[in-house]
Amino acid sequence: MTRAQSANRVLARIPAKEYQRVKAQLEPVAVSFGQVLYEPGAMIRHVYFPVDCLISLLTTVDKRRSLEVGMVGNEGMAGMPFILGMGVSGVRALVQGAGSALRMASGPFRTEFDRNTPLQEALHRYTYALMAQISQTAACNRFHEAEERLARWLLMTRDRVGSDEFLLTHQFLAHMLGLRREGVTEAASELRRRKLIVYARGSIRIIDVSGLKAASCSCYQVVKTVYDRAQR
Ligand SMILES: [Zn+2]
Repeated sequence: MTRAQSANRVLARIPAKEYQRVKAQLEPVAVSFGQVLYEPGAMIRHVYFPVDCLISLLTTVDKRRSLEVGMVGNEGMAGMPFILGMGVSGVRALVQGAGSALRMASGPFRTEFDRNTPLQEALHRYTYALMAQISQTAACNRFHEAEERLARWLLMTRDRVGSDEFLLTHQFLAHMLGLRREGVTEAASELRRRKLIVYARGSIRIIDVSGLKAASCSCYQVVKTVYDRAQR
């Protein structure tokens, strides 16, 4: 298994023989913070298998407001509509953690997906987990408080980027969590007061993971359990 294959957990599930064909179509790309990969209603030109980047899936409302409904890291693939036979994105896909990914053009992906049973199986399992994440996030945004949602978001990001420190601003977090910027600042300063995180301009670092888990709503563990089950 090559390092790039093992770094993405969907690709890692494909046996060597089938992966040789997939590999021939994969192109390594660097994606940058704030880059938009898909817009709602637009054709998807590539699917992306994150290696060490993080992609947010945002639902937009009235063309000006947006809310994160899911995140895709190295456990998955951006471009879920293709798994379901559709080529148009329903969400905005925005890079929230810069890094590298392996991408495949939509035509070759469709051909490969149709004949590669292990790839189908891996992506069906991943879609099951992503749909659970999207549903849980919808309920979370409605019922849970800003502070516990922020704790959940930080833990989910940590799991996907494999780091305790991320570059982000309160303004960016406000878009992700559907809060006003002041709401994010209030929630973040409470987590800092409890010595769970520290932050400076443009970056946040988790200093107490188990404390942050206790501060998070139950949604973090619910979604994590589904992902663990799907990756078994
Ligand atoms: Zn929640």
